[in-house]
Amino acid sequence: MNRWQKLINQPGVIIADGAMGTMLQQAGLEPGDLPMLWNVDHPGRVRAVHRAYLEAGARILLTNTFNGNRFRLAIHGLEGRGDELNQTGAQLLRTEIEDYVKRAGTGTPQAVVAGDIGPTGEILAPLGKLLFEDAADAFARQAVALIAGGADVIWIETMSDLEEVRAAVEGTRRASADIPVIVTMTFDTHGRTMMGVKPETAATTLGEWRVAAMGGNCGNGPDEMLVAISKMRAAAPGAILVAKPNAGMPELVNGATVYRASPELMAQSALQLRDAGARIIGGCCGTTPDHIAAMARAISP
Ligand SMILES: [Zn+2]
Repeated sequence: MNRWQKLINQPGVIIADGAMGTMLQQAGLEPGDLPMLWNVDHPGRVRAVHRAYLEAGARILLTNTFNGNRFRLAIHGLEGRGDELNQTGAQLLRTEIEDYVKRAGTGTPQAVVAGDIGPTGEILAPLGKLLFEDAADAFARQAVALIAGGADVIWIETMSDLEEVRAAVEGTRRASADIPVIVTMTFDTHGRTMMGVKPETAATTLGEWRVAAMGGNCGNGPDEMLVAISKMRAAAPGAILVAKPNAGMPELVNGATVYRASPELMAQSALQLRDAGARIIGGCCGTTPDHIAAMARAISP
């Protein structure tokens, strides 16, 4: 039985991790720099974030590889290093989990390495220029590297366009026919994604594609996430649902984006998300290990 299946067979809510990007910025990453370059340049700092989330109670953690498709890497002139940066990202998390289990002793449940895949940033044809086949090819390449580095599942996140999700799911399945695929979309535009996808439409479609779990991430904080999860639950009663909200509504202060929701508020929201049907609960932008620890305590006091 793979680690994902073992994890999901346990009863109750599974805690996922929180933000990576905003944590690395606190550790000195400059705005505009590529976070996944730190997998090679500052692996200790990336591992420290993973460690803090493990200690906070997260049992499914995302690799630091959000921008790891060749379209995003090309913006930084790093498209030639995609395999290395993705594979190293998965290895760092795998190693950190193994060290954590060694320290914590036998009986500690193995956490799951979720190979993180984010959007291309391009718009698919016919609306845009990106061809489905090129997108699927880029996602397949990223998935191959993540699996080579030790990913247990592939986690496709912050998606707005179902056609791009289809390319990512298909690309992943080319890399591995049986690796579990998790998809979360961002419902940040009047309850829909930027491309107009409703939560209930996402739930129905993703169900047809037989993803292992589905839900929402990022967006305008836990209240809007709660609405999206309720709609997904109604449309897909049997699905394993995921909620990874930001720490509140993003606010622009002196040119920087800040997130103000406290750990206590996020802990309250975690209970509401659970009651609405979310089975996997974590955080996105602005959440820290303190937020995740408070959420874990609220769920399992
Ligand atoms: Zn986010």
